[in-house]
Amino acid sequence: MSPPASPQSTFLDSVNRMLEDAFGLMDLPAGLCDAIRVCRSVYAVRFPVKIKGKYRIFEGWRATHSEHKMPGKGGMRFAPDVNQDEIEALASLMTFKCAVVDVPFGGAKGGLKIDPREFETDELETITRRFAIELDRKDLISPSQNVPAPDLGTGEREMAWMANTYRVLHPDDIHADACITGKPPEIGGIRGRVEATGRGIEYALQSFFRYPEDVELAGLEGSLEGKRVVVQGLGNVGYHAAKFLSQEDGAKITAIIERDGAIINEKGLPVESVAEYVREHGGVSGFPDSTFVEDGASVLEHDCDILVPAALEGQITEANASKIQAKLICEAANGPITYAADHMLREAGHVIIPDLYANAGGVTVSYFEWIKNLSKIRFGRMERRMVETRAAAFVDLFEEMVEKPVPEKYARELHREADELNLVRSGLDDTMRRAYDQIHEVWRSREDVPDLRTAAYIVAIQKVAYYYTEYLL
Ligand code: NAD
Repeated sequence: MSPPASPQSTFLDSVNRMLEDAFGLMDLPAGLCDAIRVCRSVYAVRFPVKIKGKYRIFEGWRATHSEHKMPGKGGMRFAPDVNQDEIEALASLMTFKCAVVDVPFGGAKGGLKIDPREFETDELETITRRFAIELDRKDLISPSQNVPAPDLGTGEREMAWMANTYRVLHPDDIHADACITGKPPEIGGIRGRVEATGRGIEYALQSFFRYPEDVELAGLEGSLEGKRVVVQGLGNVGYHAAKFLSQEDGAKITAIIERDGAIINEKGLPVESVAEYVREHGGVSGFPDSTFVEDGASVLEHDCDILVPAALEGQITEANASKIQAKLICEAANGPITYAADHMLREAGHVIIPDLYANAGGVTVSYFEWIKNLSKIRFGRMERRMVETRAAAFVDLFEEMVEKPVPEKYARELHREADELNLVRSGLDDTMRRAYDQIHEVWRSREDVPDLRTAAYIVAIQKVAYYYTEYLL
């Protein structure tokens, strides 16, 4: 059975059609594709909250796409135009994202139809806590059943409100901290979660550049050093990706696209200063030493080496796909390229590092946070001092034997602390490398697999299918 037809192609249609392309190249038992594709359940809720003396009705969703592994895992999106189709599409992506990076969760996603900028902080807290109560009633916030995380329009603060609401409702749950991830480190969060998705984008690109034959297919050569990068959306994901790519890999962020327009500087934009400017002025317009373009979306078509859409879904469509100049596109956002545009770009020779792999850094570090919450111990607590003492002894021994200091670059590595942040980064780096290796292998070893996206779906579906055929009741 093919995915349901729709008069107007939606985000969910797009995801389903991409999935269907991968199913077409696999030999799965009859009916299993449908079982894997359909969304298990969606909870829709409307609830009133009294704001400035007046009742306002809010609408929200939590979709659980798969339960082959538990809990279901996925972000919580606060946006004015969020809808059920979008939440189901995002929940589906979560299933395959978790499978690609070997994170043992089912796929889920939540959304609240709200423009957070319309409300005072205490109003937003009341609304968020009330939404958490509604979800809790259906076990849709729960360490074992369903674990939300930040997404568009939410961050540590919202996660803290929700986690606290759960704790108040379940004082006897010893694992209460694990009900949600992306919390501030002070209340059970993990160091490195805020930067995780952007950091994962950096590691995904580094992994790609480790294969010269893949780089060549994208019409590029060498490393990330000096590559011209255009980033759309300087929020959590876009900011961290741009910051690390420019500060640690030597890439140049030549354009940044935000809600109010875009700024361009071919010599490279100072990412931290731009982010500070956006926080102060609400947009990029007026940022010094740059050219402002009011039609921000048109800058997606700007000449560059790598395009990183990190804002919203559906940004590259049939309308602008043929004008995209970047040969390499790294999908930091979920679903930034529609199904039709994806095919057009592939036929025109563009290489796309797909969302279900590229932006999996967030859920990977969420998994580390969940483990930390269940085990009640900070990563590195047992071994940190031992690792440090051993490394120091090794440096001393080496210097004594050769009567020379250990060269700076080795000394820095040997003295790198085994603290939580470094362990998280190391675990994430390893995860992104291993996942890329698997996807690359499928892409380059099978002539019928046309791109990285289809390869990533095949890798993910194989893992999910194994559970359905071997274990599912
Ligand atoms: P965010 O709210 O922190 O940032 C989004 C940014 O995009 C904001 O700066 C906003 O001003 C900007 N923006 C909004 N509309 C825009 C437009 N039309 N043009 C240009 N910029 C626009 O959200 P985020 O957490 O960074 O999420 C961004 C994307 O990454 C989403 O697709 C989300 O689903 C995906 N994602 C996020 C995470 C995570 O850990 N936060 C994990 C995986 C995927």
